[in-house]
Amino acid sequence: MPVHEAEAIVLRQYALSDSDRIIVFITREFGKIRAVAKGVKRPQSRLAGCLEPLNHIRVEFYSREGRDLGQIRRAELIQSYLGFHPSLVQVYAYSYFAEIANEIVQDNQVNYPLFRLLLSVMEAGKHNGVNMALVRYFEIWCLKLSGLFPNYAYCSSCGKCVKDDGFFAWIEVGQARCSACAQGRGIKIGAPAAMALTLMAKLPPEQFAASALAQDAAGDIERLSQRLLALHLEKQLKSYRILTEALQNPEK
Ligand SMILES: [Zn+2]
Repeated sequence: MPVHEAEAIVLRQYALSDSDRIIVFITREFGKIRAVAKGVKRPQSRLAGCLEPLNHIRVEFYSREGRDLGQIRRAELIQSYLGFHPSLVQVYAYSYFAEIANEIVQDNQVNYPLFRLLLSVMEAGKHNGVNMALVRYFEIWCLKLSGLFPNYAYCSSCGKCVKDDGFFAWIEVGQARCSACAQGRGIKIGAPAAMALTLMAKLPPEQFAASALAQDAAGDIERLSQRLLALHLEKQLKSYRILTEALQNPEK
């Protein structure tokens, strides 16, 4: 079987047998991969510590074309994002990011920009903590990099530029409507939220997260990203509610 070497982020793992686990990871080179880690639950396993969720690793794995499951041969830790005494908000946010990435990227589908996004938001969260703005940044960019974020720059009915004034998002058809054409239908994205979306498109995550995102703008963007994620993932993410509670009560 051919051996591949890749840079990867572990998204999740689950039990296959008493001693083996299936590891799901997103790689920069091969997209999302599922592979068996043999003996990983034995105390003497050298793989165990490397394959915890959200670890940034270098990994060698076998995989045969047409087979669902590869097998991990070796792994080496580059950076552990949950191994540095993270806050609860960091744990919940990173778990949420991993759950979205796992759902949105198909097996063996290469999406290097999304791999980079996941690393850069975790880096930003590690240095400056996780806030609402960083979570919104990840959601919107994840949708964009997966081709699931519509172009909301212009009203699809009259052609007016709505980037600065705000708009109504018509989710199912993937269009924006100015307030005159929307006639009250769609998800309202006020001017502050529309401007924040423009800013998000230009800034790296740590800069965007450091800029003040007003409560109403954050709320508008949250409604938009949640509706788009629900539309495309066709499921409610378990980690979302618990993260939202933690963000609202950060002292817990
Ligand atoms: Zn219009």
